[in-house]
Amino acid sequence: MGSLALDTSLQYLKGVGPRRAEVLATEGIHNVFDLLFYAPHSHIHRSSMRSLSQLRSHLAYSSVSSLSSSEGIDALRTETTVVAHIQSMQTRTIGKRKSMLSVILTDESDASAEVVFWNYVEYYKKALKPGALYAISGTAEINRYGRLTFHHPEFEQLEDEDELLYRQGRILPKYRVTKAMKTAGLTIRHLRLMMEQALSDIGSKIPECLPEHWLKHFAYPSRHEALSTLHFPESLERLHLAQQRMKFEELFYFELMLAMHSHASAIKDKAPRIQPPSPSARHVRDALSFQLTGAQNRVLHQILKDMGSDQPMNRLLQGDVGSGKTIVALLSMLMAVDNGYQALLLAPTEILAEQHYQNIKRYCAGLGTPVVQIVGGQSKKQRHDISTTLQEQGAALIVGTHALFGGSSKRSAVARTLPYKNVGLIVIDEQHRFGVLQRAQLRSLGMQSFPENQPLAPHLLLMSATPIPRTLSMTAYGDLHLSVIDELPPNRTPVKTHVVFESRLAECYEFIRAQLREGRQAYIVFPLVEESEKLDLKAATQAFEELQHGDFGEFRCTLLHGQMFWYEKEEAMQAFLRKEFDVLVATTVIEVGIDVPNASVMMIHNAERFGLSQLHQLRGRVGRGSHASYCFLATKDHFSFLLRRKEADHSEKLSAVVRLRTMEQTNDGFRIAEVDLTLRGPGDVLGTRQSGVPNFRFADIVADADLIALAREQAFGLVNSDPQLRKPEHALVRTEYARVSRIAGSVPTTA
Ligand code: ADP
Ligand code: MG
Repeated sequence: MGSLALDTSLQYLKGVGPRRAEVLATEGIHNVFDLLFYAPHSHIHRSSMRSLSQLRSHLAYSSVSSLSSSEGIDALRTETTVVAHIQSMQTRTIGKRKSMLSVILTDESDASAEVVFWNYVEYYKKALKPGALYAISGTAEINRYGRLTFHHPEFEQLEDEDELLYRQGRILPKYRVTKAMKTAGLTIRHLRLMMEQALSDIGSKIPECLPEHWLKHFAYPSRHEALSTLHFPESLERLHLAQQRMKFEELFYFELMLAMHSHASAIKDKAPRIQPPSPSARHVRDALSFQLTGAQNRVLHQILKDMGSDQPMNRLLQGDVGSGKTIVALLSMLMAVDNGYQALLLAPTEILAEQHYQNIKRYCAGLGTPVVQIVGGQSKKQRHDISTTLQEQGAALIVGTHALFGGSSKRSAVARTLPYKNVGLIVIDEQHRFGVLQRAQLRSLGMQSFPENQPLAPHLLLMSATPIPRTLSMTAYGDLHLSVIDELPPNRTPVKTHVVFESRLAECYEFIRAQLREGRQAYIVFPLVEESEKLDLKAATQAFEELQHGDFGEFRCTLLHGQMFWYEKEEAMQAFLRKEFDVLVATTVIEVGIDVPNASVMMIHNAERFGLSQLHQLRGRVGRGSHASYCFLATKDHFSFLLRRKEADHSEKLSAVVRLRTMEQTNDGFRIAEVDLTLRGPGDVLGTRQSGVPNFRFADIVADADLIALAREQAFGLVNSDPQLRKPEHALVRTEYARVSRIAGSVPTTA
């Protein structure tokens, strides 16, 4: 046991000093504690490492057809590490001044690989040593000459001692060494020595932060042991357990923040109690031409239970496209209305708001419940009439777009004239289209709608058809309760999806014509040309003309594009719904929520340009009736080569291929969302950096789904039983929680 404490500055470690300590500080490593948490990003271990020859056959074998399997995606995303010698290096000059460095690697398997450097050639010429042994990490691929190569590789020399340890079969930790660290002369070996010193010197001073009986129960090592194992693993099994423990710890404290936050806001705000009986809801339900599915009934039950309490509901309702979320929302809204409250439904687009409005009016015909719509572009008189209706009637169903917030220009002035009174329930459809702030804003508008002496917070129901992977919703929306409609209405036949190459469009059009002749309708979708909306319009219009007079000359075609006014779009949609047209040519404006059960064919042009969730949303427009439905993903012939190719190629194209393949292989929105998450990462999937999902140090939001669920269960359970963390057996948790929330600064919130 030595003189170091956890908060000792690193400059007092052997071989560090003030300069290196400063460099480490820029990485957030200030003291001994931080240092020990600077965990290896991977480990090198001889027996679990692929040789060059194994890597080669692995790449050749993981043909693109298997790429939408998780292993295939891993191949796309993850770095591979190999240990190999540099056999030779050669500089070649290309053109006048440009030179490149070719490095040939070999290993014991007698296979070879080539790495080519186009930049910093002089630097690498000096830094790399022929004959030396390196750990090389990068994305492996087979280039177009059939050679194994690495993309953006990182070379790290295994010095004599490491080489020996490696050959002896020891597990060597690999740390991320930044440029600044390298410049300051810090290598992996240094880091390892520092870790060694720190661990032996502080003894077992690293405080435990998980209750003893959990460790026993999950067979996790202590915190001290886990950290030592990460830095100096004795076996792969122990390494695995140590990693699991650190992941769990990290996830648990994140979920604990969410649980504490959600508990605190539950105490703060009171909500109106909304209780049965609800004659209107019963009336509408009894008049339905179908039976609610088991999943719909279950979710309604959960909502009813939430709304019956005086704590504001915070519920996220997930259900794949077409799973029937709207009717669930409507029945919930009617319960609020029967209890004397207003219910708001917010939709992301005018078309969708209008469709909801029309549907709800139809469902509620004869009930006497007022249904109003608030969208942009309404005249003063219209708004005035709405206000009058609402003032006279009180409880009502209010459907709208952003306009529900009040005008965008003179926001505050208009907001004051918003006719809300006693808003008991707010439903947000396609909630991922709205930011965290907008949700909070709408909620506070709802709160302001109650009399000052009786402040109440409305219940909140968020709906999403973009299935957010379970793991992501548990973290990003961790303070929400989750309901899932995991069952489609009966008699739906799954959509058959095929990739079609452009040279074979004619056959595909023939198939579509046959469907149309049988009375079906079709969507033909063109991508948005991002650079210019005008171009987009031109492209779609031109394509429309060609189709209208060419392949679909015998049918009635109509065009829908982004430059049309919303009521023009709505008119086109309604005409399509009334079967006045057979073919709807559109840019992606039809993406959200549109419901035309007789449309059974969709053709998406340039499908490789669309994101996965967009493709899934688009495809969700068909397969809504009882007819067999089809989705064709048209793409360049060039992709036919890629799709059949046995080898991995440049990753951007590759992920397009993965998207198309995934669409062909599954209709399961949650599966698709998972692939999407793997391809793009959580920030992009949520479409917002405010998502509140931290960059976890140990945990992987996709791969560690089970651990997230476990951590969440433990965290919410603990807060339930001991909201102030006062019980003596939770003392450890309280201390660590205080530390973690100090670091986090503010707690992520969703509403
Ligand atoms: P989404 O969840 O995508 O918003 P919708 O609420 O628009 O789906 O429902 C899609 C279609 O399914 C609608 O036409 C709706 O009337 C119908 N539907 C909803 N629930 C059922 C059910 N239980 N049985 C049959 N059809 C249903
Ligand atoms: Mg919907």
